[in-house]
Amino acid sequence: MLIMERNYKEVWANCLNVIKDNLGNSQSFKTWFEPIKPVKLENKVLTIQVPSQFFYEWLEEHYIGLIKKTIKKELGVEGRLEYSIVMDNSSFGNAPFTINLPTANKNAVQNPAVTMPIDINKNSSKDIPNPFIIPGLKKIKIHSQLNDNYSFDNFIEGDCNRLARSAGFAVAENPGKTAFNPLLLYSTVGLGKTHLSHAIGIQVKNIFPDKTVLYVGAEQFASQYIDSVRNNNQNDFIHFYQMIDVLIIDDIQFLSGKEKTQDIFFHIFNYLHQKGKQIVITSDKAPVEMTGMEPRLISRFKWGLSADLQIPNIETRIAILQKRLYNDGIDMPDEVIEYLAYSINTNIRELEGVLISLLAQSSLNKKIITLDLAKQMIDKFVKNTSRDISIDFIQKIVCDYFGIPVDRISSKTRKREVVQARQLAMYFSKKLTKSSLASIGLQCGNKDHATVLHACRTVNNLIETDKKYKSNVDELEKKIKI
Ligand code: ADP
Ligand code: MG
Repeated sequence: MLIMERNYKEVWANCLNVIKDNLGNSQSFKTWFEPIKPVKLENKVLTIQVPSQFFYEWLEEHYIGLIKKTIKKELGVEGRLEYSIVMDNSSFGNAPFTINLPTANKNAVQNPAVTMPIDINKNSSKDIPNPFIIPGLKKIKIHSQLNDNYSFDNFIEGDCNRLARSAGFAVAENPGKTAFNPLLLYSTVGLGKTHLSHAIGIQVKNIFPDKTVLYVGAEQFASQYIDSVRNNNQNDFIHFYQMIDVLIIDDIQFLSGKEKTQDIFFHIFNYLHQKGKQIVITSDKAPVEMTGMEPRLISRFKWGLSADLQIPNIETRIAILQKRLYNDGIDMPDEVIEYLAYSINTNIRELEGVLISLLAQSSLNKKIITLDLAKQMIDKFVKNTSRDISIDFIQKIVCDYFGIPVDRISSKTRKREVVQARQLAMYFSKKLTKSSLASIGLQCGNKDHATVLHACRTVNNLIETDKKYKSNVDELEKKIKI
């Protein structure tokens, strides 16, 4: 056994030497030959393991002549080469897919999926079946990353989402075959984009179990891409995405300003679209308002249908709460449900957040859920936090955060961090107190109302475009609200 083992390794090492002589110690050698692992040598058949199907195709396309020559040299004219394909998913960060992978062994013959024999004495391109249609490769299973709770059943229909929902439903019943390709869902946060996009994926899987569906956040997509660049396997990355039948990309705005990732996405998009595969995209803005996105990508987004999700009206908000309670098997007085739905009218996620806090509060403190308890909760967590917050307090927290004395806010200085602190103090004063623009201006360095308005706009813009900035602002807001 030992002798055998050394043998195949030696044979491959010799082959590599020949190949290296031919290619030099080039990037191509590193990319295409170093990752190959010899697996076994039996009856003059050398089996090598390659990281992916794409890899195999590339070798076949570009190096088959050299490989043939080399094998002949090492094993004689009867020498043959077999590939064993491994889809290595370790480099994709959170490993978005899994693959059934029988290792190359004696079963190889019965299992042509993973081993592709090549007769080096013939013109291989004629003899090798197209790897895309090798039956065993259908075993590739991609985990869809779908959340079962985000189904159509749990998605309440209302005027706010009727178009988006029915387009989503149509797409799910006929992926890639409707005019809604891509289907772009957009809205501000917490209005159901993620939920609806999962629902589409789940429904596709229900109707077409064989279709490959993938939900991926644009953020995850971008980081997988960066990983693939780092590991020099972009091709595997692209190839992986090209296998998807229904690709759902959430929060595409995350790609804003990331040119290279947009570029790759553009190519994947084109490939899938051309093949009649379905693409579903969500975004915080309509295509016309997107910033930091390549025009050619935006123009693709306009090919299909863009549907927005709006703030649900009171009936829909009540229905959403009722559904949630029903699913969790919880009873709650109607007046409380109505009170919650009336009080929180901007964002469904927030509405659910208050509901959860209320349930937690009642179960932890063994209190029955009453209207009074609900009112206390809302007062405490959402509404009227402004009551106890003064502009002085805001200035203090903001200045502490920047490490500057609080009186600098009222000074005339244009130093960067003071300007920033002043803008944030104005922004929070507007957001969290009932003071007028004029009085905020007066208390923040004797400025006029237009300056305050400008400050609020600047902060809002930064929040929308700069994630890091947004998280700092969120952190500050929490400090102020405590
Ligand atoms: P977005 O992605 O737009 O920020 P989400 O899809 O994460 O919003 O929705 C926020 C929360 O609101 C989720 O828990 C989701 O289940 C719920 N939700 C949103 N729209 C609906 C709806 N129409 N029916 C039921 N629940 C909804
Ligand atoms: Mg979302």
